[in-house]
Amino acid sequence: MKLRIAHLYPLSMNIYGDRGNLITLTRRCEWRGIDCEIIQVGIGQPVEFAKCDIVFVGGGQDRQQLAVSDDLLKTTKGADLKQAVADGLVLLSICGGYQLLGHHFLAGGGRKIAGTGLFDAWTEAGAGRLIGNIVVDCSLAEAATTLVGFENHSGRTFLGAGVRPLGTVVSGFGNNDRDRTEGAIYHNAFGSYMHGSLLPKNPAFADHLIRLALGRRGRTEQLPPLDDRLEDVARTSVISRTVSGRKRLRFF
Ligand code: GLN
Repeated sequence: MKLRIAHLYPLSMNIYGDRGNLITLTRRCEWRGIDCEIIQVGIGQPVEFAKCDIVFVGGGQDRQQLAVSDDLLKTTKGADLKQAVADGLVLLSICGGYQLLGHHFLAGGGRKIAGTGLFDAWTEAGAGRLIGNIVVDCSLAEAATTLVGFENHSGRTFLGAGVRPLGTVVSGFGNNDRDRTEGAIYHNAFGSYMHGSLLPKNPAFADHLIRLALGRRGRTEQLPPLDDRLEDVARTSVISRTVSGRKRLRFF
């Protein structure tokens, strides 16, 4: 058995090290003897989502988002992806990619970039970018965990009733600068503002995605544990620096 991971728009949508998420997914599979392959899918290239196990799309600037929006909506790709997610396909989308899977992104200057509506969410550019380390409390497969990451976006995303947030912001911004939600979950599809260090620094999230993908193939056995001591040190140090930094900001 081989896990097939589709990397959507690797040339247009890949900023702040987004590809790190794919490296983590493939390494954590390989270290456990699970074969996987990455299929790169660019603008104008077809893809059969029904034959994929995991789909990944990273972030991008507004101009690239326009071209990708066209590719998703002027072909059947956007609708096919929506159907595959309704059927349980595992998907991780980051920042600009996440925005394009909502209903629309109202970018700076009033330009509306259409999205697929896969997530019941919409995005509006705000004054000033939301940048920095972020700490998020969430629960994955019933287990409480704290995710750390890095965000950099002008868009403020708001969630409708058809999705639930990935987590609650402890420090940083997440979806917007108002409601302390971060990301979105719909079936096995996840959206997040945390860029390339999301899965490298949060191996529990990477394993959650791998487990979901294997489960769809009927493989429900436990994943052998890996030595995550370095990842844990990285996570803990971001949490303590970011959260104590936030406290300092409050006092001064
Ligand atoms: N252009 C979008 C924004 O600024 C997405 C940016 C990103 O993917 N980092 O909100």
